[in-house]
Amino acid sequence: MNKVVPLAKEIVRRSKAGNQPARLMGNVNEVVAALRPSEPLYVLWPERVAATAKAFMDAFPGDAMFAVKTNPHESVIRALCHAGMKSFDAASLEEIRLVRRVSKKARIHFMHTVKAPEAIRAAYYDHGVRDFSLDTIDELNKILSATNYAEDINLFIRFAPPKNGAAAIDFSSKFGASPDEAALLLRSARSYARRLGLCFHVGTQISDASVYARTIGLAAAVIRKSGVPVDMLDTGGGFPVSYPGEDVPEVSTCIDAIKVALALHGLDQMEILAEPGRALVAQNGCLVVRVELRKGDLLYINDGTYGGLFDAGPLLKTRFPVRAIRPGGTFDGHMKPFRMAGPTCDSLDMMNGPFMLPADIAMGDWIEIGNLGAYSQSMRTNFNGFGSCETVCLADNQ
Ligand SMILES: *Cc1c(COP(=O)(O)O)cnc(C)c1O
Repeated sequence: MNKVVPLAKEIVRRSKAGNQPARLMGNVNEVVAALRPSEPLYVLWPERVAATAKAFMDAFPGDAMFAVKTNPHESVIRALCHAGMKSFDAASLEEIRLVRRVSKKARIHFMHTVKAPEAIRAAYYDHGVRDFSLDTIDELNKILSATNYAEDINLFIRFAPPKNGAAAIDFSSKFGASPDEAALLLRSARSYARRLGLCFHVGTQISDASVYARTIGLAAAVIRKSGVPVDMLDTGGGFPVSYPGEDVPEVSTCIDAIKVALALHGLDQMEILAEPGRALVAQNGCLVVRVELRKGDLLYINDGTYGGLFDAGPLLKTRFPVRAIRPGGTFDGHMKPFRMAGPTCDSLDMMNGPFMLPADIAMGDWIEIGNLGAYSQSMRTNFNGFGSCETVCLADNQ
């Protein structure tokens, strides 16, 4: 990891100029007091990412690969490698290149079921990728021809679990073969795959650990039906994180449910994998925004749903934890619910929360929005010219 340096504006300027962000000493309050940021400021704690990943890898009965789309910041990838993570789940050539820049040795899985032939070719020949997923016979043929029928590829057949109602976003309407089709695809792919796997994704941010157990039961049935030996089972992502107002199981409860189901269905001797995203990073990053104007209970802030706060918007309505910051000042202590509006001219750029903040919060105060280590900066746009956001990494010395 980078060395720790004292909090100083020059260091941040240097990181803005394109050098690796240094890890700064200090907490969020001190950073805000020192920088008084006029643009959104993204804060990451790489050591906490490493610790969270280590805990996941220790508990999970197989190989955990980080789903890169969740947070593709280089310091995150580096922290995960530092923690001993050996595998990554990428969906594009750009994500593959990013992981390769950080680690020459990482096993990169190309787990998008619809890939460009050029991307498959580059992944295989230029970046050493050997693991690919698919959910159709056409994609199987595409992978085989793009790799010249290479004999060292591993293939994962993705099946779509039935809609479970327990996920914030269900992926089954977009990806995955039906269980019957998946059994046929396992048969078709068997002779071309060095190692053959079955994979699924139960949907992101699940609220009920038994979804894993049910889906593993279904996977066992698909494997039986295929009639061919299957080497690997990839139980995907979906491991939840607690946001205010949401009742979700602990990650360890989900992992226990997976272990019990694997044993129950006699799958515990296979190579087991998972693709955690959110659960490894969400709690290890935050976004600091400034209140530019207040109208009653509506706070106009300098970042929004087109920036780092997509999940707080009208689609997912995630209530992120918030904390007001007023360097050198205090609040009167009374809390009340607020709504927030992002900076763009689009009225969809609204976050209704409610977000509990001091009743006397005012123009010029800052707000730390927590649990934004996942699905935040990876979705930032420059819509309306509001894309600029600096990132700092803090050393975990508090
Ligand atoms: C997004 C995604 C993940 C990560 O999902 P989380 O719910 O964040 O854990 C894993 N695998 C695939 C294929 C994905 O698309």
